Amino acid sequence: MISVLVAGIIAAYLAISPQLEFRQKVLALALTFSACFLLVYFSYEALIFREINNIYAGLEKFKRKEFKQMSTKFLFRPDPLKRIKDEIYLLAERNQKEIEELKRLQAMRREFLADVSHELKTPIFAAQGFIHTLLDGAMDDERVRDKFLQKAAKSLDGLDTLVQDLITISQLEKGVVQMHKSHFDLNELAQEVFEQLENKANSRNISLHLLNAPEDLFEVLADRGRIKQVLINLIDNAIKYGRENGNIWLSFQDGKKKTLVTVRDDGPGIPKEHLNRIFERFYRIDKSRTRDGGGGGSGLGLAISKHIVEAHKSTIAVFSEVGQGTTLRFKLPKTKL
Ligand code: ADP
Repeated sequence: MISVLVAGIIAAYLAISPQLEFRQKVLALALTFSACFLLVYFSYEALIFREINNIYAGLEKFKRKEFKQMSTKFLFRPDPLKRIKDEIYLLAERNQKEIEELKRLQAMRREFLADVSHELKTPIFAAQGFIHTLLDGAMDDERVRDKFLQKAAKSLDGLDTLVQDLITISQLEKGVVQMHKSHFDLNELAQEVFEQLENKANSRNISLHLLNAPEDLFEVLADRGRIKQVLINLIDNAIKYGRENGNIWLSFQDGKKKTLVTVRDDGPGIPKEHLNRIFERFYRIDKSRTRDGGGGGSGLGLAISKHIVEAHKSTIAVFSEVGQGTTLRFKLPKTKL
């Protein structure tokens, strides 16, 4: 159209020129039309078609996830086209990332489901076994009956703890749990926790030490109930996995804005290769401990503790060396005076 228009204007101009013959006028018209046509065609080709092809080629690479090889070159840098291209690439990259995240979550969900079924199976099978043995005749012997009933009850207690922990962790991971923050004294909370765990510690002849003077005040702003749960988890682990006749030390240290909470034991410690993994759900160093009812927990204690500490905008850290004991630390915001 542009070529016809330009050729038409030139033809009209030449028509009124008396110097040129008719044949020359037709030739001039044809030449103008061809030149215009070629010029327009090749500029469009360079400016638009090539860029669109470029975008298509880029999308093809997206499909094959070859992000790095995508060309960002433009011949004439036409702004609207560049913007379209950038927009498409951005969208495609975002979609690709979302797809990968969804795939990762799906794999995690599958793994979680497999872990949960496995963990549930252990206490259910144990309780089922004891009850069936009783029904099959073991009930007649009073001594065996009591022993088996106690074992079945222990398995069901373990199942109850596991289900409670599963509910807690799923709520924490969903982010639906609100931290009910209040001002309280950590020293007072520590004494409460020690009282609760005293018998358990005594059963392994482990001494619990509070390193700060009982009258010292360590006021923090946090969810008291949840922090109590964290302290119980950490000290309970130190009792379970520490050495018999050992020691556990709990201490608080005031910083500028935060108070450092430290739980240390003189147990066998944690090998380096496990240190990064102990906060994962169901991760246990000694996999056999819960299977044989050897006093291990649900495998969720540290994962729950990590979530609670993170909900207080802090992190939990572990330091340990084999034979040197284990230290776990986290910080809590101090009450502003
Ligand atoms: P569990 O319910 O098995 O205690 P946790 O999440 O509380 O699960 O702990 C994960 C694992 O970390 C434990 O199974 C144990 O192997 C290891 N662990 C935790 N605390 C200690 C500690 N103080 N000393 C040695 N090992 C520990």
